Amino acid sequence: MPVAQYMALCLTHPVHGYYTTRDPLGAAGDFTTSPEISQMFGELIGLWAAEVWKQMGSPEHLQLIELGPGRGTMMGDALRAVIRVPEFRRTIAVHFVEVSPPFEKRQRDAFARTDVPVEWHKALEDVPEGPCIILANEFFDALPVHQAVMCVDGWHERVVKIDENNQLRFGHASDPIPLFDDMLPERVQQAQIGEIFEWRADGIALELGRRVVRSPGAALVFDYGHVETATGDTLQAVAGHRFASALAAPGQVDLTAHVDFQALAQAAEGMDARAHGPIEQGLFLRRLGIETRAAMLKKAAPAERAAEIEAALGRLISQARTGMGRLFKVIGFAHEKFGILPGFEP
Ligand code: SAH
Repeated sequence: MPVAQYMALCLTHPVHGYYTTRDPLGAAGDFTTSPEISQMFGELIGLWAAEVWKQMGSPEHLQLIELGPGRGTMMGDALRAVIRVPEFRRTIAVHFVEVSPPFEKRQRDAFARTDVPVEWHKALEDVPEGPCIILANEFFDALPVHQAVMCVDGWHERVVKIDENNQLRFGHASDPIPLFDDMLPERVQQAQIGEIFEWRADGIALELGRRVVRSPGAALVFDYGHVETATGDTLQAVAGHRFASALAAPGQVDLTAHVDFQALAQAAEGMDARAHGPIEQGLFLRRLGIETRAAMLKKAAPAERAAEIEAALGRLISQARTGMGRLFKVIGFAHEKFGILPGFEP
């Protein structure tokens, strides 16, 4: 089967899928994410959304949509932060797009007593139209990715197969993909034999672009990945905060692949959305005032807690080569008429 189908089954198979059977987040789980590292992340995004809502002309009803909300931590922190902007908070209806039953359950528990209306959907298409702000953190990396391998006669789709010893192995389809090169940037067309190219075909970026133009609204997407479309095998398996084999234990480990921000932007722009960025997460969070927020929290906290806040700030904005501040990028999309989104000023 194509790598994308393998990834889809591993992650979201109704009985054996990784996301369908567990909550992988946190110290005891397989990986952690920015909102789980610090409340500051969600708080700043809440205030960002309030600012964008004003740029949108303060619509009376706003759909605050989150794709893949995990434990719902980011939305919880965002809604708490905007208590200070009551004229905005009053307009919000939250829409969670979630495929995982355990995560949905967790979100329902977390939002059981909230004063804001909350609804759940399986896909972005199912969310009612209307002025919207769409948020996503570490969502796109979890979407199935297709891979192709450059062979002597062109690109062949990469597949997962069962070998003579009954083991899973990577291979490639026997026929090349017709006219594939025509769709690729020149850089990628010059790939050497054996190089791998990845793409996503889920259509979510198209729907996101369509929505911010038609509904209208804006979107903010955080993830790790590359700013320019390029070759490379980024399919990665993680278990217990360590790299694992993508084939050894299907459905038991997290599978992700880097986000191609150029492809994401092209899809949304194809629907007439305007792209802002991508820029590094560290720069974006600093522009939103994360250092001031950290200083405020530290002032009010005992010494031990202050050290934790400082460490969390460091992790979120770290400029080290593998730091989240640099590895993670953020891209915004909006209807052109709303101007430049906060944090993306040139
Ligand atoms: N945004 C959260 C969780 C990231 S994990 C955080 O930053 O902590 C990825 C999330 O996307 C999970 O909630 C997972 O269940 C969800 N997800 C994965 N594939 C999905 C899909 N195809 N549609 C909707 N949600 C999906």
